[in-house]
Amino acid sequence: MSENVNWKRVWAEAVDYVVPLLKLKVTEQAIYFYLMRHSRMVGSRLVTVLKKTLGEGVQRSEFNLNEHLGRLARKGCVAFRGHNQRGVVLEVFLPEEIVDWLHRGGYKKVNLDEALLAYKDPAKRRALLRRDRDRCFYCRKRLEITELHVDHLEPISAGGSTRMENSVACCERCNREKGPAHASRYLYMLYRMHRLSRERYKERVRALRKLQLAAAEKM
Ligand SMILES: [Zn+2]
Repeated sequence: MSENVNWKRVWAEAVDYVVPLLKLKVTEQAIYFYLMRHSRMVGSRLVTVLKKTLGEGVQRSEFNLNEHLGRLARKGCVAFRGHNQRGVVLEVFLPEEIVDWLHRGGYKKVNLDEALLAYKDPAKRRALLRRDRDRCFYCRKRLEITELHVDHLEPISAGGSTRMENSVACCERCNREKGPAHASRYLYMLYRMHRLSRERYKERVRALRKLQLAAAEKM
């Protein structure tokens, strides 16, 4: 059964949103696009992967291929759906389905632009920076819009949303150091390392609590 898909849009969403959001490596991108070409673009959700064929198609050895497919599956781009005589059967997901999967583990449609405001929309980036008073939410370093990084209190990879209530402005250093740690843990670490005074630390914990309450209310 053929789907009514706007491929120009799908391609743009994949390149502009999915690749940076999931930090897809060049090889993963090549494999994802290759799989898309042989599934959704020909009207099927499924594709049978002859490992040898795919290996030749993207110039990769079989060993690496398994690893890359596993990574794509963990990132929600594909799902293993079993085996047949010819090889492994995969289901391939469109960008909007991937983003939605990241959000709630289902495959309903979401508004990509809203979901990924952190990466693209200049107006929303400015609004976020303004809300956090032109400072890094964690260390309170002053930030210009060009230095803005967006951090998610509940990591996207753990099912957190990219809505405003789950997003904070942060500096490059905090974004890098915090990693997947919980925001409250990271604030405590800054305090212990004397990068936040006791007063500032308490004030930041209150600010965090306020955001978390706002996020809970929206749910
Ligand atoms: Zn910072």
